[in-house]
Amino acid sequence: MSQEVRVRFAPSPTGALHIGGVRTALYNYLFAKKQGGKFLLRIEDTDQARFVPGAEDYIKEALDWMGISPDESPWHGGPHGPYRQSERKSIYKEYAMDLLEKGHAYYAFDTAEELDAMRQRLTAARVVSPQYNSITRTQMKNSLTLPADEVKARLEAGEPYVIRVKIPRKEEVRLQDKVRGWVMVHSNTLDDKVLMKSDGMPTYHLANIVDDHLMKITHVIRGEEWLPSAPLHVLLYRFLGWEESMPTFAHLPLLLKPDGNGKLSKRDAEKHGFPLFPMSWTDPDSGQVADGFRDQGYLPEALVNFLAFLGWNPGDHRELFTLEELVEAFTLERIGKSGTKFDINKAKWYNEQYLRKKSDHELAAYLTADLKKEGIQIPQDNAEKIVSVMKERATFPADLWKEGRFMIFAPETFDTQVAEKKWNADAAKVLTAYSEKLEALQEPLDAATAKELLAVSAEECGVKLGKVMQAVRLAITGVGAGPDLMQVFEILGKEELIKRIGFSLKTLGIAG
Ligand code: GLU
Repeated sequence: MSQEVRVRFAPSPTGALHIGGVRTALYNYLFAKKQGGKFLLRIEDTDQARFVPGAEDYIKEALDWMGISPDESPWHGGPHGPYRQSERKSIYKEYAMDLLEKGHAYYAFDTAEELDAMRQRLTAARVVSPQYNSITRTQMKNSLTLPADEVKARLEAGEPYVIRVKIPRKEEVRLQDKVRGWVMVHSNTLDDKVLMKSDGMPTYHLANIVDDHLMKITHVIRGEEWLPSAPLHVLLYRFLGWEESMPTFAHLPLLLKPDGNGKLSKRDAEKHGFPLFPMSWTDPDSGQVADGFRDQGYLPEALVNFLAFLGWNPGDHRELFTLEELVEAFTLERIGKSGTKFDINKAKWYNEQYLRKKSDHELAAYLTADLKKEGIQIPQDNAEKIVSVMKERATFPADLWKEGRFMIFAPETFDTQVAEKKWNADAAKVLTAYSEKLEALQEPLDAATAKELLAVSAEECGVKLGKVMQAVRLAITGVGAGPDLMQVFEILGKEELIKRIGFSLKTLGIAG
């Protein structure tokens, strides 16, 4: 039997989940489902100083909204829990001790001042990035330099210490990344990272490796910003004797600014007015609210489709994929190496596509909810008719009402620019004739009749219909552009049209 695929999304609850994090979660989900495996969520909260209340609930809600909930998590439980690192504290110590015993880690007693002095010394000696490493450790206060009985005495006296990894001095560390291919790093560029802090908490590196091993993770799919940590992780797997079962790595390409120049930043989002979070987030300290995709009217299926294509493609020209279709098509091999531009217009395009796929019945619910906020009530069949013509032009559900007000309320004013350019005596003549024809009509108006009567009116007035069409639209809707006008006429009905024509002739004048 082949091994069960198990992947994890491992966010730190330090604030709202960034949209890049949502993409990471999505790729993990897609890969797990495609392989018939499990998608885990582990909360990496070992850094108590950066813990932000509410962040964990936010992560859960965001993933649930997107439809990519994990199989195992702090909320769902599972056979390898607990899934919050703060609840696994006792587990890590054992592995740190194991590394100490095997000589792959050591105690370090240096105070903050001593570490500072070391950095200053190195900076003065023109070392570009001063580090605690295989060279500098020989001059510091640690169990490699101090006599064994002093180390013992310090530990027994309860002196604060950290445990650091002992990076080999000269070694090429290699790893094969599913996205980037072979990655090779010389160990002399790595520093002796802290594995256990003085408060007894593990750091990210130790906890991450221990948990991935104990949770039987087979593939680590995460953002490119973690690639520099991967060589250390490879060494830790080896030092702990877990090299055989080391997961496969896949580091996802960076999300770039809309113009492709550099990493996507908060400033870009502010400048272009797009959100960086799946849902709105209120900073618990400042009370500041950051906008989210959900609140701006993005549909989860559109966001899923958009994010899936930020770094992956199916290898053909298809662009519209439901979550199930993405699962079916997804492979790590088709993830690109180079950074990928964050094009919000593409996200909008996806939203339009998914909005149009919804039934009129579903869309009417958005419209009636917006109307209700303004104390307006309309019959369901009327709402369905309105959305059926408005959806072609809507990007967000709110546009159905924002752009479609004229479907319920007659215009009180007219777009002056369009009026200046398009309104004239011919238009007034045609509309007058049209109004009379509508008046004479016995049966209810449908789109085909509306069109026919309008054509006949124009012909009788000796006017080319195309020349006055925009003026006709202006007279009925108040603006120069909108959905299919004859559909609009059918929905408005005869009486309403006659009323609107009368008002516009009065307001815009008949002389032109
Ligand atoms: N806790 C890390 C983060 O916040 C996890 C990185 C990883 O997936 O290894 O992204």
